Amino acid sequence: MPETEHARADTPPEGAPNGRPLEVKAPSGHSIVAHHVHGWCAKCPGIELWEELFAWRNRERAGMTDAPATDRAPAPSREVERHG
Ligand SMILES: [Zn+2]
Repeated sequence: MPETEHARADTPPEGAPNGRPLEVKAPSGHSIVAHHVHGWCAKCPGIELWEELFAWRNRERAGMTDAPATDRAPAPSREVERHG
């Protein structure tokens, strides 16, 4: 995946996708959580729902490692610990 496809967690956003300054406090009827985290939401004028969804997805991805996914449990189950 290209580096530009996902947002970097250590890079502060410069502004909302609609070019307006970020608003941490949500206006009435807007998403309080999205404004707190992103500074904007899909209810803001000029912003589509997919843009907010994309921002949430990028935020989730920023916290993930690039290690390959595995089906193995991170630790043995209680039964295995008890009986081997
Ligand atoms: Zn908003």
